[in-house]
Amino acid sequence: MREVLTMNIREIGTALKKGEFSALELTEFFLNRIEKYDGEIKSYLLVTRDLAKEMAKEADRRIRSGESGELLGIPIAVKDIICTKGIETTCASKILKGFIPPYDATVIKRLKREGYVLLGKVNMDEFAMGSSTENSAFQVTRNPWDKDRAPGGSSGGSAASVATGLCVASLGTDTGGSIRQPASFCGVFGLKPTYGAVSRFGLIAFASSLDQIGPLARCVTDLAILLKIIGGYDPSDSTSLPFSASDYTTFLGQDIKGLRIGIPKEYFTEGIDHEVKHGVEKVIGTLMKCGAEPVEISLPHTKYALATYYIICTAEASSNLARYDGVKYGLRMGGKDILDMYKKTRVNGFGKEVKRRILLGTYVLSSGYYEAYYRKASQVRTLIRRDFEEAFKLCEVIVTPTSPTTAFKLGEKIDDPLKMYLSDIFTIPANLAGLPAMSVPCGFDSQNLPIGIQLIGRPLDEGTIFKVAYVLEKETDLKKIPDEFSV
Ligand code: GLN
Repeated sequence: MREVLTMNIREIGTALKKGEFSALELTEFFLNRIEKYDGEIKSYLLVTRDLAKEMAKEADRRIRSGESGELLGIPIAVKDIICTKGIETTCASKILKGFIPPYDATVIKRLKREGYVLLGKVNMDEFAMGSSTENSAFQVTRNPWDKDRAPGGSSGGSAASVATGLCVASLGTDTGGSIRQPASFCGVFGLKPTYGAVSRFGLIAFASSLDQIGPLARCVTDLAILLKIIGGYDPSDSTSLPFSASDYTTFLGQDIKGLRIGIPKEYFTEGIDHEVKHGVEKVIGTLMKCGAEPVEISLPHTKYALATYYIICTAEASSNLARYDGVKYGLRMGGKDILDMYKKTRVNGFGKEVKRRILLGTYVLSSGYYEAYYRKASQVRTLIRRDFEEAFKLCEVIVTPTSPTTAFKLGEKIDDPLKMYLSDIFTIPANLAGLPAMSVPCGFDSQNLPIGIQLIGRPLDEGTIFKVAYVLEKETDLKKIPDEFSV
């Protein structure tokens, strides 16, 4: 059964159809691995053991009766910020402990339609605010490549569960890098789709103009399969783009001769670890060898991206998180009157980083400061978006490191928010501009920690990203699961 860890979704589907193993056996294989390994990695907040077996049996029935479904019997983990009907969804926050959504997110409905098996809900930074998953109110997730290090965040549970081989693939979310940075730290593939390409209906909001759901997996093919399923117009999300997701697997194997690869000079300067720089430059060389053409480009407003992001995301978060007041959802503390109840609920329910964001966000939106901060940030956001529009006149895809460093030690940055924020410096611009971007494993540093390269595409041009990512996957042929967990 171990060979399923290196098979893609289609290959597993074929084996299931041929009867080489059943969906139930496959699900039990992953449940056993979770039992064996997740005690030390702690990627799952909730393992939906019984439900998974039921879903697997149903998939087996559908397979036997010849029904179609692209994910029939495929075990998947879901970040605990995505609503799953009847299954606790906490956002890794005490304030939502015990919250049972009365409906499924659109992405979950679509996975169900294709016959997936839900293995459980995976850990994250509280409300997706963070870059190490250490802000979870419940547990610290470890990086399978070095258990003293962070898996990245905020989708650290999604990335670690994929890299440890505790699911076939997972869903994460990305507001400023939360799919790509953990994918990079854990040595797996992660895609943040174009803003509006995947429905946010049923995704618990952090910063609505930036949030996107996307897949993480051990191969490009699985990302392509999953994007087709979860992507496309949804009338329940007013920011959803009117398009239908195509079969992205058709891009896999296309050659990249003559493709212009933009290399932004602002991304290869100060602050970047030299081994990361070297690793990324090496695979840029590989792309050249395969016929791609390098083009030096400039994204001059990059230096403002971090500041812009932390104004916009905190402003939106302060408004989105106002709904957690003890009345409708989750935690409710007693108080002498209603105001006291609100206060006690919020003081006890939210963690430190979430409170920091609510305070900052309330400040930048407050009268007298709005013009200086929020309005200014929105204007700079437009300049950042225009930088990309200009750059994409010269190239089809932009290549950068995903993160300035490889995985850092647990505890190393948690007391210094600015240091933590800097870990997303290369991923945030794509969110501000709404562009699709993928992190692709591209090698290891001298400490055997994975390095990730980021591919940024034009709006809705995930296809080109897939094409380049697939070339890299084949050329580099890297290990996706550490030896320790390959048995
Ligand atoms: N690390 C960034 C933050 O803390 C991005 C988080 C995310 O993408 N959800 O806001």
